[in-house]
Amino acid sequence: MKKNEVNSSRMPVYRDAGFELFDAATTEAAFRNETEHERDPEYFIYSRYRNPTIVSAEEEIMKLEQCKWALLTQSGMSAIDTATALFHTGKETRPWIFFSEIYGGTISFIESVLKARRGIDIQYFTAEDGSYNLREFEKNMSKVQPSVVFVETISNPMLIVTDVPEIIRIAGKYGSKVIVDNTFATPYLSKPLDDGADIVIHSATKYFSGHGNLSAGVICGNDKDIMKSAIEYRKFVGHMLSPDDAYRLQTQIQSFRLRFVRQCSNASKLAAFLNERSIIGKVWYPGLKSHKTHHIAAKLFNAKGFGGMVTFDFEGSNPEEKRIRRDKFISHVSEKIKLIPTLGDPHTILMPVEAVWGKKYPEPGMLRLSLGFEEYDELEDTVAAALDSIQSL
Ligand SMILES: *Cc1c(COP(=O)(O)O)cnc(C)c1O
Repeated sequence: MKKNEVNSSRMPVYRDAGFELFDAATTEAAFRNETEHERDPEYFIYSRYRNPTIVSAEEEIMKLEQCKWALLTQSGMSAIDTATALFHTGKETRPWIFFSEIYGGTISFIESVLKARRGIDIQYFTAEDGSYNLREFEKNMSKVQPSVVFVETISNPMLIVTDVPEIIRIAGKYGSKVIVDNTFATPYLSKPLDDGADIVIHSATKYFSGHGNLSAGVICGNDKDIMKSAIEYRKFVGHMLSPDDAYRLQTQIQSFRLRFVRQCSNASKLAAFLNERSIIGKVWYPGLKSHKTHHIAAKLFNAKGFGGMVTFDFEGSNPEEKRIRRDKFISHVSEKIKLIPTLGDPHTILMPVEAVWGKKYPEPGMLRLSLGFEEYDELEDTVAAALDSIQSL
């Protein structure tokens, strides 16, 4: 693609709402071409349809996911809205199955949009004791025969790793479409499209952006008809990302691999460190042998890493003591580890689990960490000092 009129090495931000089309013949050709959805049209028309800066950022994601199409949207939620809209015919007779351990925003979307407004019959396949029983899943599938299955590769906040290739294999037997939310695992650890998933979505707000300074989502796929319909839906509904955010995403995503490798290694080291401390109750990290889904993670992620998230809770003789220890920890580390409700940021950030996911996870001493890519030793010093001060109380 022609980058611009000067000798810049990167795609600039094109903020045009509508592009200049010169004459009636060009206009006609541009609109005709628009319905063909070529990646690199001669003329752009309108930024809600497509925009060169956004196409350029999408090409970066296509390289990471190694897929034929990546479509950017304004948020992870609009990517989920688009992905689910593709398979919603309005006349379906078959239910959809969602795995129970999925992003809270997705649960709200299911309840208030897919069920309440779109009338889709949704069933949850529930994790028990920290993992999914795929024999039960297979039984469920043969009974329900859903048209769509939706699953996350690594769940929040308990970091349950799902055997996505096996789920896709089972879903294939019943002709069910599979949507995978791969936000936590990222294409560095897992590429569900290679295993036959129909759609992979990401909240690009998280690891792809990696700097906590923009909101974006992406829908990835290889099937031309499905993705053509995604392009149309995004255009008609207006889920397009802004060119400014696409520009920043395109730049920041270039360091994705470097950042994520470090985040995984920081997480792995800190999980091992926390695991040795007597004031810590339990540590949930798929890289630890004690994690219920460690064997799945070890099989699927090819020893590349186990993700950048760690959840743990405080030991205590009663719930109140655990809560007090948690709060002391939060205030002790607050200069270095801030309480910010997102993940994948440059610095390690934390969330109190009970305060956000209390209905499902009411444990008062539990904290979720999103590891940053800072120097590990500094991070461990910060955490160790906080734990020492709590322990000596
Ligand atoms: C954050 C998140 C989303 C939603 O993404 P937004 O960019 O906030 O809209 C969806 N799925 C997962 C797993 C997430 O972590």
